[in-house]
Amino acid sequence: MDQFVAPIAKLIEEFSKLPGVGRKTAQRLAFHVLDMKNEEVIEFAKAVVNAKKYTKYCSVCGNLTDNDPCSVCTDVSRDKSVICVVEDSRDIMAMERTREFKGLYHVLHGSISPMEGIGPEDINIKELMKRLDNNVKEVILATNPTIEGEATAIYISRLVKPMGIKVTRIAHGIPIGGDIEYTDEVTLLKALEGRREI
Ligand SMILES: [Zn+2]
Repeated sequence: MDQFVAPIAKLIEEFSKLPGVGRKTAQRLAFHVLDMKNEEVIEFAKAVVNAKKYTKYCSVCGNLTDNDPCSVCTDVSRDKSVICVVEDSRDIMAMERTREFKGLYHVLHGSISPMEGIGPEDINIKELMKRLDNNVKEVILATNPTIEGEATAIYISRLVKPMGIKVTRIAHGIPIGGDIEYTDEVTLLKALEGRREI
């Protein structure tokens, strides 16, 4: 038997479905909601509903946006000859923070993972291929340095290279401030492979 009355039990249940939220935290959040003012609760609920209602995926690049096409795709100052391929919309925000990349993006919404039954047709690869016209000179593969991310990069590279478009992979290696002594061998190997002349 649940110790909480039904509406609170339901709220705890919903909070505990969120990533990284355990039973204890869910209870804490639920009781916090009960302590909030009525207006605050309504604002909170509205924010949740509106975030879902007013965001969509850009029909060109797959980025999360409130306007379609998104602000990157419609920005005339961006270099349309380079497309940076990422797994998730959040990766775009990370790339944008570097203020270095001025090209366009393409979001795959996942990576190829035979273990989880995710094949090339389950992620946005077909949409990427449709974008590759004569204006595109380079595709940068910025998928994660995981087995799935690597497999996805290799798969896309095999499709794109025969089209005569330059395909590059972001370098992986030792993080700034890191220590070679404590770096695992896979990372060190990648760092060695990605070495450049200085
Ligand atoms: Zn877009």
